[in-house]
Amino acid sequence: MARYTGPSCKLCRREGVKLYLKGSRCTSDKCAIVKRNFVPGQHGKGRKGFASDYQKQLREKQKAKRIYGLLEGQFRRYYAEASRVQGITGQVLLQMLEARLDNVLYQAGMASSRAHARKMIGANKVTVNGKKVNIPSFGVSSKDIIKVAGIESTPSETIPEWLTWNGKDSSIVLERLPEREEIKSELNEQLIVEYYSR
Ligand code: SF4
Repeated sequence: MARYTGPSCKLCRREGVKLYLKGSRCTSDKCAIVKRNFVPGQHGKGRKGFASDYQKQLREKQKAKRIYGLLEGQFRRYYAEASRVQGITGQVLLQMLEARLDNVLYQAGMASSRAHARKMIGANKVTVNGKKVNIPSFGVSSKDIIKVAGIESTPSETIPEWLTWNGKDSSIVLERLPEREEIKSELNEQLIVEYYSR
């Protein structure tokens, strides 16, 4: 599956916020947003603050794509599917993105970033309900049991409530899809909906 392979920190600097793409580095003083919080490129420092409605919508969509590590076509397909499902499209979209296998591993603390989770999945280390899954975009369903070879201790202490860690067999269970307020992302999903509804 095609993916962005350029420098991750550049993406954060373009959006002007931390997108948490590089694990522990993101919470350290080495973070590029801490050291150089201006848009990359020759004229980055001189960029003006004004943004039209369209630019705000575009930037929000780009931010979401970058957080979840998706290219335009992949993201657009998620949006198309979310808009067909009953419910508030923006929230359904975020729930679908949160239910991706790479995101679940990241949220459970089993991977330091979504990129790290994708590597683990690509290395055939992950099973869902006992079957090997090597597709990062695999959509995890309610009550699915996820295991990662080699991970046997309790992961992050801040595991979200919609996931549970089962110490007996070192697995993660997706109890249910997250409510909007449980999705930590600072994204404004309504702007994304407006972008695609133009
Ligand atoms: Fe973004 Fe992390 Fe790089 Fe900071 S260290 S700019 S949060 S990817």
